[in-house]
Amino acid sequence: MIKTVNLQKIFRTEEVETWALADVNIEIAEGEFVAVMGPSGCGKSTLLNILGLLDNPTSGQYFLNGKEVSKLKENERTSLRKGVIGFVFQSFNLIDELNVYENIELPLLYMRIPASERRERVKEAMDRMAIAHREKHFPQQLSGGQQQRVAIARAVVAHPKLILADEPTGNLDSKNGAEVMSLLTELNRDGTTIVMVTHSQHDAGYARRTINLFDGKVVPEVVL
Ligand code: ATP
Ligand code: MG
Repeated sequence: MIKTVNLQKIFRTEEVETWALADVNIEIAEGEFVAVMGPSGCGKSTLLNILGLLDNPTSGQYFLNGKEVSKLKENERTSLRKGVIGFVFQSFNLIDELNVYENIELPLLYMRIPASERRERVKEAMDRMAIAHREKHFPQQLSGGQQQRVAIARAVVAHPKLILADEPTGNLDSKNGAEVMSLLTELNRDGTTIVMVTHSQHDAGYARRTINLFDGKVVPEVVL
């Protein structure tokens, strides 16, 4: 599903050049649950953003489902993302002016799904994330755990094959964090590929494999 070849990302500002990723070669098969770990600033979010087609690498290749996608224009990336990739962020990234129902419905509006099907799919996602009783509430009226469940519902409503999660439990207490992890595990069990950035060894335990980054490079796995 995912294959990168010598992926590099260099951020250039006036005077500073930051090598966020250097020669990253990874492969992730469909159906995997992979954790990405490493110290702050090692390039985890940069990698996830490139895998999620939010950004292009500076050089190297990225094959998503066999298609080379490292040099696409922004509008091409956006249309390729739709219905294929779902995102979950540490800070939930919900829209404050929209209620729970409307937040979850958003990706389906972008995909021009007809109203009756939208309603069905939003209800299904709300039920799955146990948030239906809050459908008229606005993000500020929800607990952190509830907000993250809404964010996950919004990520899964389009039935994506791939979910990218950047520290999804980073702002949650351990009880809500465990709930989010078990929801992600369940989605993976149903066939969704998950790539999750985490600082938590405990959360990484839910994944079946860990990719460790250090200074923008993948740390080779040590086989004991
Ligand atoms: P954290 O665990 O703190 O979230 P991270 O592993 O996700 O860290 P990244 O956000 O990927 O790290 O950043 C990798 C490096 O690239 C850092 O040195 C960061 O300062 C730099 N960087 C990231 N985004 C940009 C940008 N838009 N412009 C310039 N430098 C950037
Ligand atoms: Mg990060």
